Amino acid sequence: VIRCRAAVAWAAGQPLSIEEVEVVPPKAGEVRIKIVATGICHTDEHVLKGCFPNVEFPVIPGHEGAGIVESVGEGVTSVKPGDKVIPLCLPQCGECSFCLNPESNYCLKCHFSEQQNLLPDKTTRFTCKGKQVHHFLWVSTFAEYTVVPEYAVAKIDPAAPLDKVCLLGCGFSTGYGAAINNAKVKPGSTCAIFGLGGVGLSVVMGCKAAGASRIIAVDINKDKFAKAKELGATDCISPHDYKKPIQEVLTEMTGQGVDYSFEAIGYAETMIAALASCNMSTGVCVMVGVLDSGSEISVDPTLLLTGRTWKGSALGGWKTRDCIPKLVSSYLEKKFNSDLLITHTLPFAKVNEGFELLRAGK
Ligand code: NAD
Ligand code: ZN
Ligand code: ZN
Repeated sequence: VIRCRAAVAWAAGQPLSIEEVEVVPPKAGEVRIKIVATGICHTDEHVLKGCFPNVEFPVIPGHEGAGIVESVGEGVTSVKPGDKVIPLCLPQCGECSFCLNPESNYCLKCHFSEQQNLLPDKTTRFTCKGKQVHHFLWVSTFAEYTVVPEYAVAKIDPAAPLDKVCLLGCGFSTGYGAAINNAKVKPGSTCAIFGLGGVGLSVVMGCKAAGASRIIAVDINKDKFAKAKELGATDCISPHDYKKPIQEVLTEMTGQGVDYSFEAIGYAETMIAALASCNMSTGVCVMVGVLDSGSEISVDPTLLLTGRTWKGSALGGWKTRDCIPKLVSSYLEKKFNSDLLITHTLPFAKVNEGFELLRAGK
């Protein structure tokens, strides 16, 4: 048993509490990882607020991390102690019907499909003050050591800097892949991205890499515009600067609406606005933002009747165990610069400050 620190969410609506926790050894088919670095994604904020589906408290959140394998359970063959890895919040078991389908990246053994946020055998590897603590998305990266199923671990290049490539565990891969895999942005096309957090800025990078000729970035926080321009946005607009709905502004700016629109915020109204901003016949809208659990969207069906496509994205459409190591190699080959997404680096004990910065749009 390892004793180490973890950021525990005891109940919804409370700050994280840094606690000493016990992490038991990995069982058969599991891997124990020393987490070296983790990012903060807005999805962790949904968990803290209590609006992420099927999350029971207490829980150790965090799902955008990178680390080093500490030990492996019986039967684990794909990684060994000392390997650098990214734990996968969307796994790839390689055996389920979705994993076998080349068109899908949603593994049926995903934590998202489970009613309880425990490990697959319905038990936890974490205890704190005598209480069982739940896992999050199998990975719980806000712990110095975590235990995950082998099929939720991607072995990466030993040269990778873990404090940088942790972002490939969620935010960067999600946004970049939403453009490349889900929307399949074509060269010369026009794109609009709603929300310029870590995810939305990564969509901007993906649109640019795919050769889009016009990339319109939309946010109510204008402090995000400089970074969006640096990453490839050609126009940056705030809905607050217009009396008209933003979908009308975008349609006028582009003639018939953009070819591809992306929602990377997580509100019903911006999802509808993003949908209505794309070309009424051939437009594709990708929903990346996560709505609070239990919420619904009401949409005028004629928005779709004319031909638009509305689709979602789970982790950017990547088959994670196959693709995340390749993305890490592309990072090392400098094919993209995800380091530009890093705004602050804090010690683990200041994780709540990190959330304050996220809430403040910094
Ligand atoms: P973030 O908080 O860093 O960024 C959100 C951005 O949206 C901010 O810049 C904010 O100013 C902007 N915004 C807020 N309200 C707005 C409005 N009305 N109009 C325009 N802009 C507005 O968040 P993030 O970490 O980039 O995550 C974005 C969303 O993506 C979250 O909902 C998160 O849960 C979701 N997410 C989904 C996946 C997936 O696999 N589908 C993966 C990661 C994150
Ligand atoms: Zn995330
Ligand atoms: Zn699977």
